[in-house]
Amino acid sequence: MTDSGVREVIVIGSGPAGYTAALYTARAELKPLVFGGAIFVGGALTTTTEVENFPGFPEGIDGPVLMENMRAQAVRFGAEMIDDDIVEVDLTGDIKTVTDTAGTVHRAKAVIIATGSGYRKLDLPKEDELSGRGVSWCATCDGFFFRDRDIVVVGGGDTAMEEATFLTRFAKSVTVVHRRSTLRASQVMQNRAFSDDKISFAFDSEIAEIKAADGKLAGVVLRDVFTGKTRDLDVTGLFIAIGHDPRTELFKDQLELDDAGYLKVEAPSTRTNIAGVFGAGDVVDHTYRQAITAAASGCAAALDAERYLAALADGTNTTAREDALQAVTG
Ligand SMILES: Cc1cc2nc3c(=O)[nH]c(=O)nc-3n(C[C@H](O)[C@H](O)[C@H](O)COP(=O)(O)OP(=O)(O)OC[C@H]3O[C@@H](n4cnc5c(N)ncnc54)[C@H](O)[C@@H]3O)c2cc1C
Repeated sequence: MTDSGVREVIVIGSGPAGYTAALYTARAELKPLVFGGAIFVGGALTTTTEVENFPGFPEGIDGPVLMENMRAQAVRFGAEMIDDDIVEVDLTGDIKTVTDTAGTVHRAKAVIIATGSGYRKLDLPKEDELSGRGVSWCATCDGFFFRDRDIVVVGGGDTAMEEATFLTRFAKSVTVVHRRSTLRASQVMQNRAFSDDKISFAFDSEIAEIKAADGKLAGVVLRDVFTGKTRDLDVTGLFIAIGHDPRTELFKDQLELDDAGYLKVEAPSTRTNIAGVFGAGDVVDHTYRQAITAAASGCAAALDAERYLAALADGTNTTAREDALQAVTG
């Protein structure tokens, strides 16, 4: 095990939240060290094609290009990037430690956690390769591309009903596919969906197969979960709304999480229950989950970290420190 000296700040995550935190802390001359992940460098937007709702790009921008640009902008101001996973953390002391896959221990006075949240998948062949080509996990992001199309939405909870209802603005038809005979969604969301003429339901059903033609979604096969009988559904859009999992496994023994496993912060700040540890982006946010909101909270986390470090340097107590001590000691 080697040791690489004490940094001002370490950022874990290279999505819009992590790169924005890196940019701001780099411009504040804090020389951030950024862990971007071993295989998921650039975060969720690298798995999509056109991004049309990130401000500043009137013609839209390719997701991976947007993330390369964010990275280059942070590097330009001195952010150091290591594309590796953090596998262990000790956030409790004044000096925090994070350990990478090679066993190298990195130390810092402040840590910004921006590890994002993974959309649950159906785990079917072609699902990943058709992401951004007919398969989506986000109606707000992609609904606009599905004008006058026939769409299927998978899921039975509030998110699925919200996505289905939102998609009727664009779609010709929306079929909600749910494995059970009743929905899990709240009554008000169910009522809204049931009363929408464009929405129909396939209960006790699941997606058995995703079909592709010319690199795009070309329909799905539905299977009745009781009889096993299959039928084709002629759709060109598949929205998967079966939940998401915040990447907080690493922190769960040290940081407070909410019931759904998201990092708890003292909104509107990004402070966690431990002084000097900040949370940003989708790992904190189960409401908005957009690139721009993730970037905004990465900025907030950087500013919070800057203030924390400034207070540490001049020996004044920070609210973060007092609050965190209170939270920890009760
Ligand atoms: C297919 C798809 C299309 C989308 N389209 C749009 C869109 O058009 N517009 C829009 O606004 N939003 C879109 N979104 C949502 C948007 O991508 C997310 O809201 C945003 O990326 C969240 O940013 P984040 O920085 O919080 O997390 P992420 O982008 O998820 O990044 C998390 C980062 O953490 C890293 N990481 C995780 N664990 C570790 C670890 N242990 N060690 C080191 N690094 C780690 C990962 O490698 C990754 O870099 C889309 C999402 C998907 C999946």
